[in-house]
Amino acid sequence: MRIFDPHIHMTSRTTDDYERMAAAGVRAIVEPAFWLGQPRTGPASFTDYFDALIGWEPFRASQFGIRHHATIALNPKEANDPRCRPVLDLLPRYLAKDGVVAVGEIGYDSMTAAEDEAFAAQLALAVEHELPALVHTPHRDKARGTERSIAVVAESGIVPSRVVLDHLNELTVAAALDAGLWAGFSIYPDTKMSPSRMVKILHEYGLERVLVNSAADWGRSDPLLTVRTAEEMLAGGFTKDDVDKVLWRNPVAFFSQSGRLDLADRNDSEATFAGNSILRGGS
Ligand SMILES: [Zn+2]
Repeated sequence: MRIFDPHIHMTSRTTDDYERMAAAGVRAIVEPAFWLGQPRTGPASFTDYFDALIGWEPFRASQFGIRHHATIALNPKEANDPRCRPVLDLLPRYLAKDGVVAVGEIGYDSMTAAEDEAFAAQLALAVEHELPALVHTPHRDKARGTERSIAVVAESGIVPSRVVLDHLNELTVAAALDAGLWAGFSIYPDTKMSPSRMVKILHEYGLERVLVNSAADWGRSDPLLTVRTAEEMLAGGFTKDDVDKVLWRNPVAFFSQSGRLDLADRNDSEATFAGNSILRGGS
């Protein structure tokens, strides 16, 4: 079984996670830029974070044979902080980088006017840089947030098949698919979407334009829930080829639209990054 987790925040995870993921079949991941929990006070801390997403973190992943790509954006939550808004001006520099396969995560948190503005501006950047967009749907008031996100995406003029609407559920999946967008699902340990609910959705809506991720981050989450979903699919009557489609070929197809997805093996297990290995002691 080969697994591509199209949404996971490895910055917040340990090398033990990388080890367990590699052992379970995870071969590729995409790490979207997001909120770190602790509010950032200015653009400079975003610069260092973005640099880590395209530098240190891919190096760390490669030590476990995992290919790492990133999506870059000002996240919805911090779009509300005037101290962080200048980050929008830094984005073009990062959207030109090789390891960046989409603009994201963008979208709504509380559906404020500031979020509206940042969302539209970043969809325009995706169009301009010919990149897909990864759109987070809010955890509160999800139905209305999803509906409004679909409207903003339509207004932006981006090709619908270049957009994934993420963190969907039974109530929001149909609207996303009907609009021609990709439907993303984040599988959580004990709230929101579970592996068995995911399998029911796959039975009902089919396997086209569907992405399944763990969205593992600094909160309660589990980087192996992609693998658990694959197992649940097999138990629920899907074939190994179906599993390969949803958990490998679909994310490959979606992010290949960037023209930058590179899944070739990297054999740099002896190397260091900026003089730092992942070994204790740092050299
Ligand atoms: Zn996320």
